[in-house]
Amino acid sequence: MPENRQIIYLRPDAPMKPEPGQRCNGCGVCCAIETCPVARVFLLQWRGPCRALQWQDSSRRYLCGMMETPTVFLSVLPARLKPWFRRCVNRWIASGTACDSNVEASAIFPDLPIR
Ligand code: SF4
Ligand code: SF4
Repeated sequence: MPENRQIIYLRPDAPMKPEPGQRCNGCGVCCAIETCPVARVFLLQWRGPCRALQWQDSSRRYLCGMMETPTVFLSVLPARLKPWFRRCVNRWIASGTACDSNVEASAIFPDLPIR
């Protein structure tokens, strides 16, 4: 396998990664490959896949657990600071905006059963 290639494991029903600049569709590719500054600072996780990457069945997309359910990953966060922290993460990761990942992703085993 060429050095610049990496195998990541995501659900087969996750959306395919869009082109950079298109709207983020929650494919999860970026967070499966490497962690963002939020994960590095608060989770002390420097390599992907990020453990805060969460699949949401209802929307069939991946979400950032540090924004959705931060106290699950950050037990020291007081409940009263949760709304503020979520707003901060939303801003830090530019949630819901355009895809800023230049990774070229392709599905290798698209027919594997969902576990
Ligand atoms: S930023 Fe791009 S790679 Fe990351 S989840 Fe959104 S669409 Fe996927
Ligand atoms: S903290 Fe959220 S945005 Fe950052 S790598 Fe983890 S799941 Fe992705």
